[in-house]
Amino acid sequence: MAVPFLDLKASFEALQPEIETALLEVARSGWYIKGQAVEQFEAEFAQYTQSKHCVGVGSGLDALVLSLRALDISAGDEVIVPANTFIATWLAVSNVGATIVPVDAGVDDYNLDIAQIAAAITPKTKAIMPVHLYGCPVNIEAITQLAKQHNLFVIEDAAQAHGATVDGQRIGSHGDLVCWSFYPGKNLGALGDGGAVTTNNLALAEKVTQLGNYGSKQKYYNEVLGVNSRLDPMQAAVLSVKLKHLDQWNHHRQMIAQRYLDGLQGLPIQLPKITKHSVPAWHLFVIAVAERDQLQAYLADRDIQTLIHYPVAPHRQKAYQHLNLNAGLFSESERYADQVLSLPIGPQLSMTNVDKVIEALEEFFR
Ligand SMILES: *Cc1c(COP(=O)(O)O)cnc(C)c1O
Repeated sequence: MAVPFLDLKASFEALQPEIETALLEVARSGWYIKGQAVEQFEAEFAQYTQSKHCVGVGSGLDALVLSLRALDISAGDEVIVPANTFIATWLAVSNVGATIVPVDAGVDDYNLDIAQIAAAITPKTKAIMPVHLYGCPVNIEAITQLAKQHNLFVIEDAAQAHGATVDGQRIGSHGDLVCWSFYPGKNLGALGDGGAVTTNNLALAEKVTQLGNYGSKQKYYNEVLGVNSRLDPMQAAVLSVKLKHLDQWNHHRQMIAQRYLDGLQGLPIQLPKITKHSVPAWHLFVIAVAERDQLQAYLADRDIQTLIHYPVAPHRQKAYQHLNLNAGLFSESERYADQVLSLPIGPQLSMTNVDKVIEALEEFFR
């Protein structure tokens, strides 16, 4: 029997009656933009993330773009971002015309190296945009402190961190604005695109709402140049159903991660680094290994599906050729692009299958 990387269909089937009821309710309500289902999910997700406000938007990328816009960040401003991230973090900064200032990942950490942030700050810096990559929280206390010292905003890319905690507090309101994606494969995933911004700042929440709703607070009166980016009520209804199960699913992911951490110890591979006092959401379980491609092929031969997040660092993408960020500039991020491999993990993955993966890895290195 094959070991799938992530079985989204199984996740749906586990909640099928509840999800179908929720979807039908929206369809029968006659109300298809904003409205009760969206308001309910926003309230629930604000509470879940221990933040005061949640604004549903069209996608994770939109959450990032609208957050930058809510802070009036634009051309001439600099934003510090991880060199090692999914490209959406970078695209958001490009989208508002601001300047991307990448900071490399750590030698033992896929997340951005906090020690290198201070040197990247200039008089033009407006914000730091940390990513809780793979669901492992960055040291957010250190980042918010640094931001305070330099009078910078913090926009967290939490697209992979639903349910992760630092010092017992959920990711959701450490930074000024926290951005979420409900892309189907995320820990909390919709049946399509969706996103949200959480914050403790009412004025910023209202700004994000307005920008995502044609720049309008009152219908047909447009004060700023907004866009159309709203969380769909169908998706909100699905997310409300799934949110009730998120902790249980994340707990299962944590058990898998612990099994991998224990079982893979001693093998010549880099394991995920867990920041002190944090509990990761374990969106992905990523190892780094020099013989990555051979290992992936070896596992595939044994019907074990793995993925690569991500094979090309943003600064080496064709889309960012114009920045002239040459090979070698962010060496750890480039090394991760060559070496990372995401092992199967998910709420429906059995421990028997986790053990199969561990055994196959042991065999490969034997
Ligand atoms: C998924 C993701 C995004 C983008 O979310 P979408 O909903 O796909 O637009 C942004 N940043 C990170 C780190 C992500 O993993």
